Amino acid sequence: MGILRYISTRSGSGDESTSFSFDDVLLAGLARDGGLYVPVEWPRFGKAEIRALQGLPYTDIALKVIQPFVGDSIPGPDLQAMIADSYASFDHPAVAPLIQSDSNEWVCELFHGPTLAFKDYPLQLVGRLFDYVLKKQGRRVTIIGATSGDTGSAAMEAGRDKDGMEVFFLYPHGRVSNVQRRQMTTLNAANVHAIALDGSFDDCQDMVKALFADHGFRDSQNLSAMNSINWARIVSQIVYYFTSALALGAPDRKIAFSVPSGNFGNVYAGYAARKMGLPIEKFIVGSNANDILTRYFGSGEMSTAEVVPTLSPSMDIQISSNFERLLFDQYGRDGVALAKVMERFRRDGSINFGKSRWRAMGKLFEGFRLGDNATKDVIATVYRDSKILLDPHSAIGVSAGRQAELTPHTALVCMATAHPAKFPDAVEEATGVRPELPAYLAGLFERKERMTRLPNDIDTVRNFIIENSAKREAA
Ligand SMILES: *Cc1c(COP(=O)(O)O)cnc(C)c1O
Repeated sequence: MGILRYISTRSGSGDESTSFSFDDVLLAGLARDGGLYVPVEWPRFGKAEIRALQGLPYTDIALKVIQPFVGDSIPGPDLQAMIADSYASFDHPAVAPLIQSDSNEWVCELFHGPTLAFKDYPLQLVGRLFDYVLKKQGRRVTIIGATSGDTGSAAMEAGRDKDGMEVFFLYPHGRVSNVQRRQMTTLNAANVHAIALDGSFDDCQDMVKALFADHGFRDSQNLSAMNSINWARIVSQIVYYFTSALALGAPDRKIAFSVPSGNFGNVYAGYAARKMGLPIEKFIVGSNANDILTRYFGSGEMSTAEVVPTLSPSMDIQISSNFERLLFDQYGRDGVALAKVMERFRRDGSINFGKSRWRAMGKLFEGFRLGDNATKDVIATVYRDSKILLDPHSAIGVSAGRQAELTPHTALVCMATAHPAKFPDAVEEATGVRPELPAYLAGLFERKERMTRLPNDIDTVRNFIIENSAKREAA
């Protein structure tokens, strides 16, 4: 296979003129035509190649999995060093350890990074990849984003002290948890800025969109994002599907994954692992009350609804952006057709992709929804039966996995996407046990906070960003 190239889910064929390198898609995020980047061709591993990965450490498997997607954009030794550096600070030697929770069921703990949620797994690496490519190109970027909690802290932690970037995250003032806020405001790095906006999370998101839409500002600041549709984030999430399947006997044993989902990024990475040859029987998609995916898998109709706040705020979303990547395959990789469909969805707020596509997706994906009370019940049950403390997001994954029908002997892996101490109130209410922060975060509540509170006014926010990135440029 030649060097891997990328195309947009909304573009035509995939000839060289409309295809991009890994560097291009890393920094661009969304494609110019509004689509998402996908590889022209999937790298594929045969059974023997997968078997050869058994027993290797996380970072070795990561290199094997990620290298084909990067191609010649980054020399192997440099990529290897970045991967090693990304996961060196994680507080478990396995990086993404499996804990057995039932006779044929495991919890994959994806919360051993600096901010205690699975987003550290992609973002620690993506921050380094950004830095590397920016240095190579002699460029600086301003990264802006909106966060309801987890993404902001993980991206700020990933971007801290990187010369090529100035990072600004807006969060709704007074509406994120104390742990989440402190993870953003106590970083003590000059190039990351937490902005407490007077408004809701939607106001923060609208503000970021408006700033991106201001083309003069966008170009002068070199605006960029590390959001959930970023291709490199997806790639780095493929790794733990491989490590956990391998640990349980893949490719010689059937595995199913249950994934608590919001933007469909994490579960799509599992789909990518399957495309690469990892034998995965099924993906179980867990949702909270914001259940657009459950409703789609159940009825074949995808329709948006108002976002309602839940105990699992990182899944409080209206539209699962990465679902478009799955649809691209369902539409026979016809980006022109898909562009029309997505445009209609945006206009009408609902869409039906046709019965045969729905059936095809239903063979591989199954969705379950869990309300807040049921979520607390699961946290209590799992703690009672196996002494494992689950955070609300992870509990939704475990419950969804238990409801799915799998063939006998299939190993079920449930992705635990956040540390229970990140959501201590819900966990304590359900179990009577208040989960403790890991030692390296024990001082979180004593550290000095640094944030700037700003009104929901675009001129004020824009000026704040301009002044602060200019200050550092001059320094
Ligand atoms: C972001 C997040 C999710 C949802 O992941 P997607 O990739 O958006 O589907 C689930 N749980 C936690 C804790 C998260 O931070």
